[in-house]
Amino acid sequence: MRPSTAVATLLLSASLAGLAATSSLSAQRAAAPRRAPVTVIEDVQVVDVQGQTVTPNRRVILRGDSIFSVGTLGDRMPDTVDVRIDGRGGFLIPGLVDHHVHLTPGMTRALVQAARGGVTMVNAMAGDNRTAGEYARAVLAGELMGPEIAYASVMAGPDFFVDPRFRGASLGFAFGTAPWAQAVTASTDIVRAVSAARGSGAEALKLYAMIDSALAARLIVEAHQQGMRVIAHGTVFPARPLQLVGGGVDVLTHVPYLSWQGAASIKPEDSFNRANGPYEQVPADAPAIERLLQAMRARGTYLEPTLEVFLGRPTTATGMREWSLAVTRRALALGIPILAGTDGMIGNDAEALPNIHKELVRLVEAGLSPGAALASATIVPARAMGRSRTHGAIAPGRVADLVLLDANPLVDITATTRIRQVFLKGRAVRTP
Ligand SMILES: [Zn+2]
Repeated sequence: MRPSTAVATLLLSASLAGLAATSSLSAQRAAAPRRAPVTVIEDVQVVDVQGQTVTPNRRVILRGDSIFSVGTLGDRMPDTVDVRIDGRGGFLIPGLVDHHVHLTPGMTRALVQAARGGVTMVNAMAGDNRTAGEYARAVLAGELMGPEIAYASVMAGPDFFVDPRFRGASLGFAFGTAPWAQAVTASTDIVRAVSAARGSGAEALKLYAMIDSALAARLIVEAHQQGMRVIAHGTVFPARPLQLVGGGVDVLTHVPYLSWQGAASIKPEDSFNRANGPYEQVPADAPAIERLLQAMRARGTYLEPTLEVFLGRPTTATGMREWSLAVTRRALALGIPILAGTDGMIGNDAEALPNIHKELVRLVEAGLSPGAALASATIVPARAMGRSRTHGAIAPGRVADLVLLDANPLVDITATTRIRQVFLKGRAVRTP
């Protein structure tokens, strides 16, 4: 960045900070200097997830919410440094993204804890968007030190709206009519339904269950038309994964559900039994599964396996474990982009690290290299979420969402749990 641009950026950040100040804080802020705080991370090893390399002896300067420079120890120091971090022995990675969480009321502490555990962005997959929207706003306003939040609106067939979770997420609305949890049929006004979903602040549509392939294809086309991406359960009963891929779906979530591609028949009510797929009748290397994966590769469809939420259970359906690992491994071999998602951001234990770290270990268990696993929680979600220019890399101008680790995650993925510091939009969130 040239100095003149830097000054412009500095002034812009300062004026935005001024706008964001609420009346309760304005008295204190008025006395503070109106400039973006500067943090220097000194002598750190910078991890390039794209290139799978580590560059030692870097001086990384954060200014306001962005990375200002990534240079050498010989570079000129800024005139004023507000926070100085000793990076020696540390490895700096882009913040981790959990592409599959659910946000419900009362999760303020969980969000802060997830951020302190290295998660700097989440994609919320279904819930009450009044809740997700309020958390997202509080994070943007700096009132909540939590991950950046994007969220989806759900659609499913009317018969699926007996799920009590949807009821809780739709208070004040007739069941199936909340903009973020809509019941859809072939006679639904698709343009209006997608507009309503988008109007609740959602960036994505999530196709959940009991939708046929023709309706799914129409919803996908309209969502794309309105600038939303579409995430679907691996099978939405009766629509099969290959039909969803053919319809242009962007992400298939939950790898075990892909097994239904090879099922002899699929009925809408099978969606209540979706985790008990035909793992034994349809092996991971069955032609039906290979055709599906080839189609995903050709279309660039993302796969979000969510391994930990299935394999971490005390009991799983017979064959599900090996099946899920094998299909994830094959997807990786074909070059299908893989997203790390937990379907459960963090446990209730106040000391727990967020579950993304367990998912990364599962992905390595499936056959991903540590670097590929790290990519699934950084550059791949940045791209999937339309944020590849701002997130997922440590470079000037990028959002300063960073994690400083005590070990190299390209060598051993469990290094992501050895957290020395987390930077959320340039602010250190852990007290050393
Ligand atoms: Zn979920």
